[in-house]
Amino acid sequence: KMHNTILELKGNIRVFCRVRPYLLDDDAENETKTVSFPTTTEAIGRGIEVVQHGQTHPFMFDKVFTPQSSQEEVFVEISQLVQSALDGYKVCVFAYGQTGSGKTHTMMGTPGSYDDKGIIPRSLEQIFEARQKLKDQGWKYEMQVSMLEIYNETIRDLLSSNKSCSTDSGNKQQYAIKHDPNGNTHVSDLTIVDVRSSKEVSFLLNRAAQSRSVGKTQMNEQSSRSHFVFTLRISGVNETMEQQVHGVLNLIDLAGSERLSKSGSTGDRLKETQAINKSLSSLSDVIFALAKKEEHIPFRNSKLTYLLQPCLGGDSKTLMVVNVSPAPSSVNESLCSLRFAARVN
Ligand code: ADP
Ligand code: MG
Repeated sequence: KMHNTILELKGNIRVFCRVRPYLLDDDAENETKTVSFPTTTEAIGRGIEVVQHGQTHPFMFDKVFTPQSSQEEVFVEISQLVQSALDGYKVCVFAYGQTGSGKTHTMMGTPGSYDDKGIIPRSLEQIFEARQKLKDQGWKYEMQVSMLEIYNETIRDLLSSNKSCSTDSGNKQQYAIKHDPNGNTHVSDLTIVDVRSSKEVSFLLNRAAQSRSVGKTQMNEQSSRSHFVFTLRISGVNETMEQQVHGVLNLIDLAGSERLSKSGSTGDRLKETQAINKSLSSLSDVIFALAKKEEHIPFRNSKLTYLLQPCLGGDSKTLMVVNVSPAPSSVNESLCSLRFAARVN
């Protein structure tokens, strides 16, 4: 295995922050800047300051991307992490932030375009290119993809050809999560597809997006209220070197982190709100406990953390990208996101 000394020194968790540009819909009439980037030697590229009620709140992360940062610039900082999945590491990249802060832009971007592609399409291109090169050194890789959504603590298979919604089937055993002693995760009935090129994965991503948007009209903007989990399993064998590696790359577009007040919500909406609050706070608890090397890690408190358990603990690598809107009307949410990130950093 190749080792990244920076990751080892810092533990296996890194936190990036990305501020998206102003959009036409933002409340740009307010001239005061809420978000700024300090230029001192120590803080450049790592610091961010948010002004709320005349008070400045400074934060430091492993990396801060400004509204001018391109998709390419973001990926340059992530590509080594992605590469480590080919060396047999389990990797998770999360996009965290309120709805409209740029999570999906960061993860998916505009998949067809050359410049605007996000982390998921860029990762796949890199992995399949690297696989081609590793072939010359005698490595044979097999790749498998699954894509699911966690909504209201229920898993939905986004690659299932069976259109019926699992939540309606009443079958409690469907999509049961099991971890075997080798650290492999099995989700019963989940569709797993063998893939040989990034094109094949693009095709599946489109299929998943369609499956999500069907749910969207049915289920009240479900996509911002559910977690999207893309998983690439990588198995490599080198017969001459008698070596094998098993890596996993999880790329996760989280549900919107906006404060969902419990007051006023009833019925389905309340259930939904509670489920998102629960899973995002569980994720924060787990990452915090891991960062502090605590003995008990509360993986079982949510579907998301339980599903990803083998990919969060131990020898795995985690990157959290916290997305922030620069709009003055979002300042409260932005501060909440940055505090969340600062806690796990
Ligand atoms: P989220 O997934 O967090 O709800 P989106 O990724 O959908 O947010 O972003 C909201 C809007 O902002 C979209 O129109 C998106 O294209 C745009 N956007 C987000 N980040 C950027 C960026 N870095 N550069 C340009 N446009 C962006
Ligand atoms: Mg989104």
